[in-house]
Amino acid sequence: MQTESKRIEGSQAAPARLRAGKEIVKKPGLAPNLSTYEQVYRSFDWQEAKKEIDYLSGGKLNAAYNALDRQLTNGRRNKVALYAVDAHEHLRKYTFQELADMTNRLGNALRSLGVNRGDRVFVYLPRIPELYAATLAIAKLGAVVGPLFSAFGPDALRDRLLDSEAKIVITDRSLKSKIDEVRQQLPDLEHVIIVGADPQALRQGEISYEKLVEQASDILECQAMDPEEPLYMLYTSGTTGKPKGVVHVHNDIIGQHMTSKWVLDLKEDDIYWCTADPGWVTGTVYSIFGPWSNGASVVAYEGRFEASNWYHLIQRLKITVWYTAPTALRMLMKAGDQMVYKHNLDSLRHILSVGEPLNPEVVRWGMKVFGLPIHDNWWQTETGMQLIANLPCLAVKPGSMGKPLPGVQAAIVNDEGVEVQTGQLGRLAIKPGWPSMLRAIWRNEEKFQEYFRIPGWYTTGDNAWKDEDGYFWFVGRADDVINTGGHRVGPFEVESALVEHPAVAEAGVIGKPDPERGEIIKAFVILNNGFTSSQSLIEELQEFTKMKLALHAYPREIEIKETLPKTRSGKIMRRLLKAWELGLPTGDTSSLEDD
Ligand code: AMP
Repeated sequence: MQTESKRIEGSQAAPARLRAGKEIVKKPGLAPNLSTYEQVYRSFDWQEAKKEIDYLSGGKLNAAYNALDRQLTNGRRNKVALYAVDAHEHLRKYTFQELADMTNRLGNALRSLGVNRGDRVFVYLPRIPELYAATLAIAKLGAVVGPLFSAFGPDALRDRLLDSEAKIVITDRSLKSKIDEVRQQLPDLEHVIIVGADPQALRQGEISYEKLVEQASDILECQAMDPEEPLYMLYTSGTTGKPKGVVHVHNDIIGQHMTSKWVLDLKEDDIYWCTADPGWVTGTVYSIFGPWSNGASVVAYEGRFEASNWYHLIQRLKITVWYTAPTALRMLMKAGDQMVYKHNLDSLRHILSVGEPLNPEVVRWGMKVFGLPIHDNWWQTETGMQLIANLPCLAVKPGSMGKPLPGVQAAIVNDEGVEVQTGQLGRLAIKPGWPSMLRAIWRNEEKFQEYFRIPGWYTTGDNAWKDEDGYFWFVGRADDVINTGGHRVGPFEVESALVEHPAVAEAGVIGKPDPERGEIIKAFVILNNGFTSSQSLIEELQEFTKMKLALHAYPREIEIKETLPKTRSGKIMRRLLKAWELGLPTGDTSSLEDD
């Protein structure tokens, strides 16, 4: 719900040079934190970056200490750390001191519940202040933070909580029922802590967040961690199997800090908004650890996407740095230029995008309406930090992901790990050694090793090429992973959900190109005997997957088929389904089952 009275329009609308919408004007910018690329790229060593990080005695480290506690003694104690705007546009501000008190109380309370270093504590919350405090409180104790996207359904929750053997989940009243549905299947889950719980309705194992922290002390020292001990784990999708738990460590803070400084270009006076949910890696790293380690003021917006709400928020809080995603930008573009010009967005000085390819057209539109280029950058859950970026000190090439950051060696290689020639398509690979690289796949060494199957390289699963100026250009995934609206979805997850419905015998799932979402999920389905194809059945299957997995993971298109193409070993050939869908040549089909 929007509070109309808070809108400031008309008198403070955008200046004529932008309102006219014709000129391409670059606003005069501040000098970037990284002012020269080539020279720094040649000489930079990650050892240097350690100077910007505060270590605890004995070379120990805690990422939460760097993100929060050190700000209390370096002059930022009373600075606003968090501008939290709820779904009704109500604003609450938290200083670094207030945030520290909140995290310390929760940290002490968690400790009293028996949380020890290494235990997994998951956060399943909307973008409310408690989410941010909980993430840091868990990290302070040396426990492993497990972010969970608030739109996940029961099946998605069960898979993650079961695999990680989570001990505690922190949730709220609005989301708790989804955990209730699978609680019986989670033998390791000892407590569910509920923000805003009705005290009368608490069941065994459920605890009111407010009651829990009420009596707790606000003094808590961060646990001194070995830099290689786990900080957070995030589940991400691959081509096969259930989502895998990508494990990151406290040492990540070095990369989180430096990239927030160089790529986000955060400065003392910035008011910074990352639109990604902290249930995903962008939100965890670039709404919490990275920006706070740099002492920036962070905006958390609980409301849903709507063009007028977003612009209004930028205007209202005078947001200066804005990190968002191509899908959102495409939707904003669709909402029209006049929608931009109705607001005063002059505070903006730096705009960034991540998650999927950013169309050159959108970059050009950004120049027109915001007077600023949109800086695309590339990274993954596994890489833990931005690796390739259109840095503020470099010219933006619309359509390119940019150049590797200092300290990052990226290359386009063939299957043997040999670099291909400039301009040639190949696999995007990175030399291991950057601080935020994944350290493990939770209890799955085999999956972890798959990332390093090309000797000497971390393989990203993306195909790309490099131009003569050293800019990288994304081409597509090398595997079947679907990227829908910036969300990575594994076809297997969706297929597994679909076949749980009594009407479905088999399912094959692909990503289908879509102008707004990048890709949409399309499912091909064989029905069980006794079921016939109908629109209502298709809708039922869509609802079914939505409920089980998440809103973004349901197939927007379902086609009923008599057969699906399979290999002789019985694997569904998604490559062929995709070729059919796109009217492309089907290539070698010699291994097909019914050849
Ligand atoms: P995730 O781990 O969910 O963040 O997804 C990472 C994947 O998203 C990458 O492997 C790419 O396929 C895609 N991706 C992320 N950023 C970009 C970008 N700037 N351009 C193109 N694809 C991107």
